[in-house]
Amino acid sequence: MNKLHHHKVICSYCGDEISSRGDLVTLLSFPQIVDAVHTRCYGELSMKRTGPRLPLNSIGMIWIIVLSDLACFILFVSKQFDFVFILVGCIAPLARIISWLMIERKLKP
Ligand SMILES: [Zn+2]
Repeated sequence: MNKLHHHKVICSYCGDEISSRGDLVTLLSFPQIVDAVHTRCYGELSMKRTGPRLPLNSIGMIWIIVLSDLACFILFVSKQFDFVFILVGCIAPLARIISWLMIERKLKP
């Protein structure tokens, strides 16, 4: 229990503690599923790495979830769905939930 109590959210980029949700960006990554970084570190990361990594806790991600689920629903109804589409439709909301469970709920808003 002690371990749980002392659990902090550590930035995977600079190694410092992240103290509030306002300073948090969560990213989808492997193998740890979700990466937590500071807002400023995300800025540095996105400049260094090729290919955009969309923050999980952004408004854009919410829209991706809404649209991908909508697309899945349409495909499901029209019976032209593919397993791949269902998988994609599930991954985004699932990653969002994991991000919240693993990181965001530990932080002050
Ligand atoms: Zn950092």
